[in-house]
Amino acid sequence: MKYLLLIALCFVVLWLLRKAQTPPRTGGQAPPTARAPEQMVKCAHCGVNQPVSESVLAHGRYYCCNAHRHEAGSRDGG
Ligand SMILES: [Zn+2]
Repeated sequence: MKYLLLIALCFVVLWLLRKAQTPPRTGGQAPPTARAPEQMVKCAHCGVNQPVSESVLAHGRYYCCNAHRHEAGSRDGG
């Protein structure tokens, strides 16, 4: 009876070893990395969200266009 248990154990171990074999590696090239999403900023005048690259930066604030930057600047009376 003991041997039966040992044999069963051996089968389990062999099965586990088979399973633990190194998994097949797909290709050698890494997948194309997705571009990081651009930071979105809020217009300090009208509050619209848009990419930082398309916004106008003035006095530490972002604006959606030059007109809003000008309006906000003139209203501040700075
Ligand atoms: Zn705006």
